[in-house]
Amino acid sequence: MRPVVAKFGGTSLADAAQILKSRDIIRADERRKFVVVSAPGKRTDADQKITDLLYLCHEHARRRLPFEEVFKVVRERYLGIVQELGLKVDLREQLEEGRARIAEIGAAGGAPDYAASRGEAWNGPIVAELLGYPCVDAAEIIFFDEQGRLDAQRTYATCGERLGVLGHAVIPGFYGAMPNGAVKTFSRGGSDVTGAIVARAVLAETYENWTDVPGMLITDPRVVPGAYTIEVVTYQELRELAYSGAKVLHEEAVFPVREAGIPVNVRNTNDPRHDGTLVVPEGHPKAKVGFDITGIAGRKGFSVILIDKAMMNGEIGFARRVLSVLEQNGVSLEHMPTGIDTLSLVVEAKGLEGKAEKVLREIEIAVQADKVQLQGELALIAVVGRGISRHPRSAATVFRALLDAGIHVRMIDQGSSQLNIIVGVDGARFEDAVRAIYRVFVHDDERPAPVA
Ligand code: ADP
Ligand code: ASP
Ligand code: MG
Repeated sequence: MRPVVAKFGGTSLADAAQILKSRDIIRADERRKFVVVSAPGKRTDADQKITDLLYLCHEHARRRLPFEEVFKVVRERYLGIVQELGLKVDLREQLEEGRARIAEIGAAGGAPDYAASRGEAWNGPIVAELLGYPCVDAAEIIFFDEQGRLDAQRTYATCGERLGVLGHAVIPGFYGAMPNGAVKTFSRGGSDVTGAIVARAVLAETYENWTDVPGMLITDPRVVPGAYTIEVVTYQELRELAYSGAKVLHEEAVFPVREAGIPVNVRNTNDPRHDGTLVVPEGHPKAKVGFDITGIAGRKGFSVILIDKAMMNGEIGFARRVLSVLEQNGVSLEHMPTGIDTLSLVVEAKGLEGKAEKVLREIEIAVQADKVQLQGELALIAVVGRGISRHPRSAATVFRALLDAGIHVRMIDQGSSQLNIIVGVDGARFEDAVRAIYRVFVHDDERPAPVA
């Protein structure tokens, strides 16, 4: 019997009551042998995530400011959960050791990874005692190389062997160890990645990702309340959606499971009877065939650098010179739509912070442009679906929806993967645009009929 790996997110473990729901889910299926836990998340919209508080502690320590007030909230949250669940585990020593180490690392100007990782590290023993499973420190089984990339070979070998011997275990998500033993975290939301790595290492039958929504929804429920669940999605579609902004699953969580063809099942801890979303390989019998829209995702916070130069198309090496300016300034490029005498660079606004003027000036000099200017905030919206960029009516449907809503399309990119159409709209119209596209695809008769 192949095991199931079940990862529980922050809201699923936010307090004693949620942790008990998670325990009941694990107990309901004996295949759920490996459990990956996040740090306690928000109990209400106004609440604080433990991870955010720990980053705050580190920031205080870095500035050599006292952080006891913030740490007290963290400490009380854990001790409160232990007490409410009536557990024996004594976290006091670990908490104090952690507090001292955060102060030490911060004062030495170190990275926030250790502080941030404690959210998961302290939650592991709680869930482990409740289940009667051993807790395995992620720093002993998940490894990064000198460049900070996952050392896949060492990780899968160690993780597979250690967990295989134990037969069942709780593993804190979000972090691993550098070659020198220092703790390193994945990017935010990274417990999803740990879950995928563990699933790949133990060759799980399924990787279950338990969260606070009934699966991957067609679009962000905070933008379209009550958006439908996507029943089945392929790894590639999921990757496109996650990368484009559907952060229900970390974009990097796809790779380890895809490699081994392990299906992912995104489910709701608060509604365990709902089947959620199944993520399967391309060509799987349950994967959709023909054209249909899978989901709509998007992100705000992009900037556009518009470069004008008469006859630029005839200049060999023009784009290369522009791109090398971005490279030298450490700015990564998202899209590069071109005209005859114009070229636009779509980049994350964050990446230009504090250096926009310098980058613009350097581009102007590098290509002797007639004009280089920065345009207002852009949001990118990806409409993802199998064959979508080939379907003659799908692009028309997106544009009609935006036109009817009075939204100007500032950029278009029909993805080379044929899985998406990307449109750029003013940041201020992002939510309106997502709603308009959702409406036309999900509710209207305008929706292109699926074809076999
Ligand atoms: P967890 O703490 O369980 O990892 P996250 O907060 O990371 O959960 O991810 C779940 C959240 O992702 C949902 O509560 C929802 O607000 C948000 N979200 C954004 N886009 C989508 C989408 N397309 N489908 C489902 N949830 C989405
Ligand atoms: N606790 C971490 C975060 O808040 C990792 C995770 O929840 O997946 O980003
Ligand atoms: Mg998450």
